[in-house]
Amino acid sequence: MRIDVITIFPEMFAGVLGSSMLKIAQERRKLEVRLANLRDFADDRRRTVDDRPFGGGPGMILKVEPIVRAVRALEAEPPQPVRLLMSPQGERFTQSIARELSTKERLLIIAGHYEGYDERVRTLLEPREISIGDYILTGGELPAMVVIDAVARLIPGVLGAEDANESESFSSGLLEYPQYTRPLEFEGERVPEVLRSGDHARIAQWRRAQAILRTRSRRPDLCGPVDNADDIRDSHGEGRGSGPERPGGSS
Ligand code: SAH
Repeated sequence: MRIDVITIFPEMFAGVLGSSMLKIAQERRKLEVRLANLRDFADDRRRTVDDRPFGGGPGMILKVEPIVRAVRALEAEPPQPVRLLMSPQGERFTQSIARELSTKERLLIIAGHYEGYDERVRTLLEPREISIGDYILTGGELPAMVVIDAVARLIPGVLGAEDANESESFSSGLLEYPQYTRPLEFEGERVPEVLRSGDHARIAQWRRAQAILRTRSRRPDLCGPVDNADDIRDSHGEGRGSGPERPGGSS
């Protein structure tokens, strides 16, 4: 996958793109990220990309011409990308959007700054507007990195274990079950016995029950109107007393 980012702060990306999974994805040629500096598409000597809002009001607005010029210059090269505009007014970014975007050949991400964009960026380019949550950040760079990270790890061949994604929170509609590694006991807290039983069916059942209980207590909104109450009751024998989530805990 190729991802182009239009930004006035390309230097913000170095640490994130140069570390961990994103570094490996690029080394494996599964991902290519190109950073375009919006100022290179300004048309004056001072490389101006912002201006005061018509009608007055605080702050500066990103001008339409440099952004449209940048998008057209990048899109002169095929394939045509999916255009994404980072904006707190966009649709909320989710794992399912990440999954959908991970199947695309190319993305083009526009990261804003200041008070936002000249509205014609939206009307002329018709980008998909993405918000990473209901809060205001200084710029679209962190949101762009969030999107790149979430999408890149879903590209086949990027994560070592192909199925590492499947039991992860949100992939199945449930939060992930509790995990343990050595030591067996630490400050009096023991690893649930079932996980050491070697009985794969029982382990799978325990994990599913825990995932359901955890989702119910922490994120009832994910469970939907008809949650799997029968499922939970069926598995109580396995779950009770042997794990961190107790049935009926906080719901
Ligand atoms: N005045 C604007 C907010 C501007 S914040 C408004 O009320 O809509 C400046 C830039 O930061 C935005 O243009 C966007 O690119 C980015 N940004 C801020 N918060 C964001 C969020 N929650 N999700 C995605 N992008 C965000």
